[in-house]
Amino acid sequence: MYPYSHEPFTNFTEEKNIQAFKEALAFVESELGKHYPVIIEGESITTEEKIQSINPANKEEVIGSVSMANQELAEKAMQAALAAFETWKTWSPEHRANILFRAAAILRRRKHVFSSYLVKEAGKPWKEADADTAEAIDFIEYYARQMLSIKEGVPVKSRAGEYNQFNYIPLGVGIIISPFNFPLAIMAGTTVAAIVSGNTVLLKPANSTPIVAAKFVELMHEAGLPKGVLNFVPGSGAQIGDYLVDHPKTRFVSFTGSREVGCRIYERAAKVNPGQIWLKRVIAEMGGKDTVVVDNEADLDLAAASIVYSAFGYSGQKCSAGSRAVVHQDVYDVVLEKAVALTKTLTIGNPELQDTYMGPVIDERSFKKIMSYIEIGKEEGRLMTGGEGDNSKGYFIQPTIFADLDEDARLMKEEIFGPVVTFCKARDFDHLMKIANNTDYGLTGALISNNREHIERARQEFHVGNLYFNRACTGAIVGYQPFGGFNMSGTDSKAGGPDYLLLHMQAKTTSEML
Ligand code: NAP
Repeated sequence: MYPYSHEPFTNFTEEKNIQAFKEALAFVESELGKHYPVIIEGESITTEEKIQSINPANKEEVIGSVSMANQELAEKAMQAALAAFETWKTWSPEHRANILFRAAAILRRRKHVFSSYLVKEAGKPWKEADADTAEAIDFIEYYARQMLSIKEGVPVKSRAGEYNQFNYIPLGVGIIISPFNFPLAIMAGTTVAAIVSGNTVLLKPANSTPIVAAKFVELMHEAGLPKGVLNFVPGSGAQIGDYLVDHPKTRFVSFTGSREVGCRIYERAAKVNPGQIWLKRVIAEMGGKDTVVVDNEADLDLAAASIVYSAFGYSGQKCSAGSRAVVHQDVYDVVLEKAVALTKTLTIGNPELQDTYMGPVIDERSFKKIMSYIEIGKEEGRLMTGGEGDNSKGYFIQPTIFADLDEDARLMKEEIFGPVVTFCKARDFDHLMKIANNTDYGLTGALISNNREHIERARQEFHVGNLYFNRACTGAIVGYQPFGGFNMSGTDSKAGGPDYLLLHMQAKTTSEML
């Protein structure tokens, strides 16, 4: 086993890579319209009710359909997972990890095909899709190794005449609920972390991106995962989400998504229902209102680039997206001007074309929500660029910059989850830090500064789970920048970090007299 290092991104300046990606897109095109069943204990179940997955860049194009699990099937899946847990938990960590290594190898071989599904189903431009697939590979490779590194437990002391051990054992059946915005990486990462730790799971993907999840479930079985360990239950969050979260046999819930749904899950999971003999664990990774802070002593071109790329990568639909720029008054006008100029160079349109920087937003609901925030922005600030949307063919919104927002404006506090960034002016470094921390969230942030003292102060004072200096606030890499947020951004589970698997396990102490 070679040491972990992250999957390199594809170099799309090389002709052979461009050709390979185009071929993968053409292959996915030929697969459009297929149907994907619910999978319970390895059995494919086709239901009457189906989710149609639509290309957000072209509403006419159906990516495929997925059977929807109702409560009856959710119950069947729970029973299958409970039964499978009895044997899966006895598999050695090595054997469980081996399945992940095989899965990573298959995914690496089909990298561009999976990325092409992300282009089609999630509207990701090539580079964003490639990064999503690379991150999925990283999660699989990293968690497999993590499992091997914790399999012996942690040494504890033993007194004369006794032998003490401290080991980690799995929890039971977990419900994995994933969001649309990293439909491969987060879905796969949260699933394999639970599985490699010895748990069995029910996976409910986001309704707007179920096909890539269905392809991943196929891949895991191809890699050798026994039946019943991973059960695929696409369905309405409202219909089966509550049912599974409330279920007395659910041992843990691993959720990534909005604050609203995360808080609902956290609250419901806290209730002990009849037949339940444990307190459920909840991993809830939620929203963000992330800030790029620009000091007066800073590289202003770097500042503008960091703001623009943090704000508009994947149309701002990242929990880590830099949706606020808080800039020192001395450099505010220059940074704003540079950011507006850079934004105007971005290419917007069909994500299937190689040179598209920004594609659509995910669906009609998001489109309307973002456009309504743009209207609020016109009241609260000064529109510098963008502000237009067009949902005639797909859900396209121009990258939008508002200037001169009050630090307490709604656009400065609420997660928009679209291509909108707001500029706010600060008097001095104290004021920069105060505004940076003035939201309910605490996920990511960046400081652009050449002032060493300010960098050290921000390290202490800027209260976010992932803080970056002199770079964008998006793009955490598994195993390098473990990812998770403070406050209303969630439980700070630090995906892709050394403690992550332990959240899916419980520690057992044994003490034997010699
Ligand atoms: P979402 O609307 O909260 O949906 C997330 C998942 O929850 C989906 O699978 C959804 O199913 C499901 N769901 C909805 N209602 C449910 C219920 N009552 N019980 C159980 N599950 C339910 O979020 P999203 O729009 O997909 O994703 C965007 C959000 O995720 C943003 O707020 C973003 O900041 C956050 N996010 C956070 C992180 C992080 O690491 N902190 C990473 C990525 C995204 P349906 O699709 O069927 O509604």
